[in-house]
Amino acid sequence: MISRHKRNTDPMHDSSRCGAKTRSGFPCRSPAVSGKARCRMHGGAKGAGAPTGNSNALKHGAYTAEKIADRTEFKRRLDALLEKNKSLVEDLKNTDASNFWK
Ligand SMILES: [Zn+2]
Repeated sequence: MISRHKRNTDPMHDSSRCGAKTRSGFPCRSPAVSGKARCRMHGGAKGAGAPTGNSNALKHGAYTAEKIADRTEFKRRLDALLEKNKSLVEDLKNTDASNFWK
């Protein structure tokens, strides 16, 4: 007897996949834990990874959340400044600078 029930497996197949390299050399392909890039067996499990604020491997602090946020904010402000003065920058690019040194 054949069931006429249509299986809806599309959301399952559309879910993001784990890309961890397995012992066979191919990616894992198990569904990734929501909000993470890895499956539960490859580091996506709850509690996996270093605890927040762990500084055991801290060497110079250039990649702390605070420093990354500082750089992001600096880039955002620089982009805003460049956008604001776009015409000025274009004028400078089109200016023949050789006249300034005579
Ligand atoms: Zn995996």
